[in-house]
Amino acid sequence: MSSNDNRPVRVRFAPSPTGKLHVGGARTAIYNWAFARANGGTFILRIDDTDPTRSTEENTQVILRAMRWLGLDWDEGPEVGGDFGPYWQTERMDIYREAAMRLVAEGKAYYCFCTPEELEAARKAAAERHDSFQGYQRTCRNIDPAEAQRRVDAGEPYTIRIKVPDDRGDVVVHDAVHGDVTFNAKELDDFIIFRSDGTPTYNFATVVDDAAMGITHIIRGDDHLSNTPRQVMVYEALDAPTPIFAHISMILGPDGKKLSKRHGATSVEEYRDAGYLSDAFVNYLALLGWAPDGESTVISRERLASEFSLEHVSKNPAIMDPKKLDFVNGEYLHAMGDEEFARDVLLPQLVAAGLETEGSPSRNADWYALLARALKPRTTLSPEVTKQSRFLYTADDELSFDEKSVKKWLGKQGARQALEAAREALLGIGEDEWSPDTIEATLDPLPERLGMGKGKVFQPIRVAAVGCAVSPGIGETLALLGREHTLARIERALPLAQ
Ligand code: GLU
Repeated sequence: MSSNDNRPVRVRFAPSPTGKLHVGGARTAIYNWAFARANGGTFILRIDDTDPTRSTEENTQVILRAMRWLGLDWDEGPEVGGDFGPYWQTERMDIYREAAMRLVAEGKAYYCFCTPEELEAARKAAAERHDSFQGYQRTCRNIDPAEAQRRVDAGEPYTIRIKVPDDRGDVVVHDAVHGDVTFNAKELDDFIIFRSDGTPTYNFATVVDDAAMGITHIIRGDDHLSNTPRQVMVYEALDAPTPIFAHISMILGPDGKKLSKRHGATSVEEYRDAGYLSDAFVNYLALLGWAPDGESTVISRERLASEFSLEHVSKNPAIMDPKKLDFVNGEYLHAMGDEEFARDVLLPQLVAAGLETEGSPSRNADWYALLARALKPRTTLSPEVTKQSRFLYTADDELSFDEKSVKKWLGKQGARQALEAAREALLGIGEDEWSPDTIEATLDPLPERLGMGKGKVFQPIRVAAVGCAVSPGIGETLALLGREHTLARIERALPLAQ
């Protein structure tokens, strides 16, 4: 899809660096990126840092890092440059001033000298009259321009207001998600585009930039839908083509309320640190409100980048479902190869937990591949691998036992017999034959031979080796632990067994 005037697609993500990148913003960024990619367009990152009290360089860096982690490469913007820069609004102040001056010169905007007190009094009077219009009463609109200029030159404080044309009918926003949304022109007042402190307002700066940067589609949160008629006024005043708007819904928590800290993680960084994979996270957010076919829960980045379209974006609020996100993350982990899982998930986690040292792994590649194979199907979030691997990084005489598991599996009649039989059988396997398959083949006949259930035989062995009753298959568990440690641990657990 291209814009109504067939310009090449140019979209932007324009975060204000007043905080971290949150899931809502991340999804907006993903949609802009995917839309650009699907249409052979340009994806621009612009930093809307005009709020000097709340914007920080640190937040900007956090946002850039989050964008990189999400894998949303931008074609123009910070660090990559481009022909339409600068890409920080604070560096574009002259551009806004110039644009405002041009509108004043053309009679499309005017100086307003009303003081805050006067404005407040006018508003109160309108309220008392039960006037349906409580906006600016256009008091300064008819001041003779030469007179206004004299007052400006004399140093009188002023704001600059846009002149909404008298004959402007209702403003109809053709929104790609919401359809046509009509705003009553009577409710549009001559709003401020430049404040008395010489800074532009959001509605003005953003349109000056979007027009100058040739933005064809504006995909953003629907909290900005109500700003749109004002922005349309600015496009028209600037004689710039109005882009296509697509206002996407808010993301709500599972309880249907606006997503907030109460619901847990809200920033991209928190999700990254919790162990979600970038691909899975992007996948999940992309499908939160957009569906290529209504069925898929897993969609590759490539498909997203080729199939994304605004037609299939839902206007209903999206509900963040942590369980589904976990499910999708698990799907991505399970689809990894053993080596890949070992390299990208296992080792980084073990290093982060201090169990391994970066760059000098303590075991050989086969061992990590085996550990990957054992843990992968049991992992939904990367950090879980640490807890499940800890028994392999603990000295035999320091292994602690989970009390409940000991009581349940070692404290019952037959446990000692099972451990002794296992020790006997395992002793028969030589060091070089020590593998999941041989171990399993060796232990398999024991339940029948001892006349006991499988659990009664294998769980005591597991508790002896791991310290608790949960671990991968017994063959993999003992193979990873190694022959010597397995036998030592069975020995050590025998006195605890009934
Ligand atoms: N800086 C604005 C925000 O973060 C951008 C809104 C827009 O996309 O126009 O909400």
